[in-house]
Amino acid sequence: MKPAPFAYAKARSVAHAVELLSAHDDARIIAGGQSLVAMLNMRLAAPEILIDINDIPGLSEVSVEDGFLRIGALVRYAQAQRSPLVSTHAPLIARAIPHVAHAAIRSRGTLGGSVAFADPAAEMPACMLALGARIVIAGVDGEREVAIDDFFKGLYETAIGPAEMLVALRLPLHGPSRRVAFGEYARRRGDYAMVGLAATARAQGAGLADVRLAYFSVGLNAVRAQGAEAALEAGDVEGAVAALDGDLDPDGDIHASRDTKMHLAGALLRRVAAELSEAAQ
Ligand SMILES: Cc1cc2nc3c(=O)[nH]c(=O)nc-3n(C[C@H](O)[C@H](O)[C@H](O)COP(=O)(O)OP(=O)(O)OC[C@H]3O[C@@H](n4cnc5c(N)ncnc54)[C@H](O)[C@@H]3O)c2cc1C
Repeated sequence: MKPAPFAYAKARSVAHAVELLSAHDDARIIAGGQSLVAMLNMRLAAPEILIDINDIPGLSEVSVEDGFLRIGALVRYAQAQRSPLVSTHAPLIARAIPHVAHAAIRSRGTLGGSVAFADPAAEMPACMLALGARIVIAGVDGEREVAIDDFFKGLYETAIGPAEMLVALRLPLHGPSRRVAFGEYARRRGDYAMVGLAATARAQGAGLADVRLAYFSVGLNAVRAQGAEAALEAGDVEGAVAALDGDLDPDGDIHASRDTKMHLAGALLRRVAAELSEAAQ
């Protein structure tokens, strides 16, 4: 299918992009286009105007600033995969990226677009949740920062307002006691996961503290399993698996029933818990 007609504007700066957004009731930003173009072609989206942010200077940078790794909105998966700053300071992201789609999509798709889009089956929103990221959002009045725990609001809904854009992701730097683990079950390599889990923790003696377990493909958004987190902090892996009954409430879909998803969520948790604990020794 072909998209419905739309106007097109190339933003010169973040200020220009938000000015264009606030001047139109039905505008959409286009970044890598790897989700949006398919939605346009299928007429699941028919915005009045597309605002192209690809030429805005400064949004494609990865840097370390004020104790955080800053990933600009236009950093592509492929660029992040090659970045020594990402592998050193955000190894969870480096672990997860190979599971996102295929090389062609990773060469255009952006981490910022994935987080702004908030697909419940996507890897990056869950990684941001596990890492305790901060999301930098710009509007006509300047920039604001939202903690990831307050960012996801519902299916494909986030704290980004209609006249705002995501400008960067800020991740706490990986430290020597930090542990990360990642796993997903997908039918084929590169497919969206049936169930996935991104996790971080701090090694404390032989145990784990500050555990963050972020599941994806089990709800309207990436979701933390807080009962399971508390059980893992108490060293009780089977208790953590049992706690998932209260933490997760997935609907079945064409790929897996609710029972299958819950079973896979438990299996992933055992794997991820073993990985976190091994790394903590
Ligand atoms: C065949 C295929 C398989 C895929 N498999 C996976 C997969 O396994 N896992 C996965 O996570 N993803 C997958 N994707 C999606 C891919 O990761 C997208 O790149 C990503 O979801 C969106 O990034 P983008 O830069 O392409 O955003 P776009 O498609 O340009 O935009 C997506 C949405 O986000 C908004 N947006 C983009 N940037 C911003 C911004 N800076 N501020 C505010 N809003 C913004 C747009 O307005 C739009 O609504 C797949 C895509 C395809 C085509």
